[in-house]
Amino acid sequence: MNDCIFCRIIERKVPSMIVYEDEIALAFEDVNPQAPVHTLIIPKKHIPTVLDLKEADDHLIGHLFKIANKIARDKNIAERGFRLVTNCNAESGQTVYHIHLHLLGGRHMHWPPG
Ligand code: AMP
Repeated sequence: MNDCIFCRIIERKVPSMIVYEDEIALAFEDVNPQAPVHTLIIPKKHIPTVLDLKEADDHLIGHLFKIANKIARDKNIAERGFRLVTNCNAESGQTVYHIHLHLLGGRHMHWPPG
């Protein structure tokens, strides 16, 4: 989708700091980090929200978590702890309608999350 910023990042039409890529997913640094580690993990397939997931996407979602696991280890926050967040629709604060995992870490996380 041409008007999707994350699709444009995948196509290299918008610059980003890519930290991981394979055939079905991409991970890059959030442009407005909310923690010392704030990486976004996205599928290359354009899926607007969690509500749009189909059964055929089960493997894809598991794959995103696997990448989060790898990046957390690579960035040495795995043992300390980290948070994975996916926002869905307006009240959650979703601003980019291309499904993504926020990988947040490197500081103490608060609960409830505001
Ligand atoms: P959400 O609000 O859950 O939809 O998260 C969208 C995230 O994308 C926010 O944390 C933004 O800072 C981030 N973001 C938006 N545009 C870019 C971009 N061009 N490069 C990297 N991160 C971005």
